[in-house]
Amino acid sequence: MEKYVVNQNVCIGCGACAAIAPDVFEISDEGLAQAIESKNIVEKMDEETREAAQDALEGCPTSAIELTDEN
Ligand code: SF4
Repeated sequence: MEKYVVNQNVCIGCGACAAIAPDVFEISDEGLAQAIESKNIVEKMDEETREAAQDALEGCPTSAIELTDEN
């Protein structure tokens, strides 16, 4: 199952991902991005959300967003 995750050690909290794909990413109370629980699973996304999440990954200035494959 492929999931989007944010490496918060690398994220600078610019907010771009949450702006591009608000259904998948949010800015936490600490000011860093996080993938929204259960909304970050690629298989469960509609086409539009899937594209937005991919755009967010590609647009992240610090490459903090990763696609993991875990069960
Ligand atoms: S786009 Fe990248 S650096 Fe910016 S908030 Fe999202 S994960 Fe963090």
